[in-house]
Amino acid sequence: MPFDPATEIQDFLVFGEYGDVNPSICDSSTYTFLSVEKMEEVFDHDIEGCFLYSRHWNPTNKALSSALARMEAGESAQVMSSGMAAISTTLLQLCSSGHEIVSSRTIYGGTYALLANLLPRFGIKTRFVDLKDENIVRAAMTRQTRVIYCETMNNPLLEVADIPMLARVAKERGVKLVVDNTFSPLIISPLRLGADVVVHSMTKFINGTSDCVAGCAVGSNDFVAALGDVKNGTSMLLGPVLDSIRAAGILKNLHTLHVRIPRHSNNAMFLAERFQEMGLAVYYPGLESHPQHALLSRIMNPGYGYGGIVAVDVGDRKVADALMVRLQQERVGYLAVSLGYFKTLFSAPGHSTSSEIPEAERHAMGMGDGLIRFSVGLDNDMARTWRTIRSCMHELGIGRTSSGVR
Ligand SMILES: *Cc1c(COP(=O)(O)O)cnc(C)c1O
Repeated sequence: MPFDPATEIQDFLVFGEYGDVNPSICDSSTYTFLSVEKMEEVFDHDIEGCFLYSRHWNPTNKALSSALARMEAGESAQVMSSGMAAISTTLLQLCSSGHEIVSSRTIYGGTYALLANLLPRFGIKTRFVDLKDENIVRAAMTRQTRVIYCETMNNPLLEVADIPMLARVAKERGVKLVVDNTFSPLIISPLRLGADVVVHSMTKFINGTSDCVAGCAVGSNDFVAALGDVKNGTSMLLGPVLDSIRAAGILKNLHTLHVRIPRHSNNAMFLAERFQEMGLAVYYPGLESHPQHALLSRIMNPGYGYGGIVAVDVGDRKVADALMVRLQQERVGYLAVSLGYFKTLFSAPGHSTSSEIPEAERHAMGMGDGLIRFSVGLDNDMARTWRTIRSCMHELGIGRTSSGVR
């Protein structure tokens, strides 16, 4: 049987304290021991089913982490209080002062700021390169390189990383490949393609209800144990622990992820096709015109589509701003950053989520000022939504000259 991440989640059953179908929410920061010896032993090494202090582990977080490990085909996982916590603790666990990271130059703005501004204060330098080109990746690597960092699909142009190629280079050079899979849970399984660590912002699709901020890192048993090491682990010592009430909520939502993702994908594909018919510059990896359409089709898990994010360039910033305001007035969705919500969210990446990236860099990446990123919601009737979007676009003179308008 081929690997199916949704089946992995389905087969994950936990029984609560009283046989509850959802694991009991652990409402404690600390745990009792029947003997001092046992307490000392747990300080020394993890013992299955024994808990010490909730910054280290708690049963609810363990349940969610186990489900995520199965979904990502990893040995272990650790949930954290944000996606940035997962990314920063992972990179600080793998790199020390003097080490280098080779990163895609098109990454989430917060991650870009972490790598470009904060990590250099700790002696960790990042080379930002175009990871599409194997020769460029190899040329950027030095003896100090410890990590290759990329996103499965990047923000906002939806470029798809060639994970098998990057994994090959990483393996050959003895470095770790860390992949941010926030845009494509279920769709891509980076660990099965050779990555060493997968990070997620669970704030987005995995939770799917935009009611909390959370993240996770998935990898080998050794890596996750290192993160939580009482004396040296970055997650243990920097302390971005997820609240167990939130973990319980995310675990419930995780069980509907396989129902949501195909709907997000179908709706996004529909919208991308309509934008393309209008003759607009549209970025969606499900379109054959997208440069990495063939690559994604080759590495993706079948049945989940090409993801819920579409970017379209409406020409200039003023028009983009006006359109987003009109779309919100017409109840297409919300003018808001973030993604993976059940309703459509839209924002102009150059002035919000990617604003940490200098303007010249943004233009070099091909990000136009008229770019709008849509996180397409779970709309039941996307044709109806499209009629509203189209009429707002016509009002503003977008695509009017195109013959393809329907
Ligand atoms: C949102 C996001 C993050 C950061 O996650 P938080 O949960 O906001 O800390 C990291 N990577 C990507 C691709 C994101 O979209």
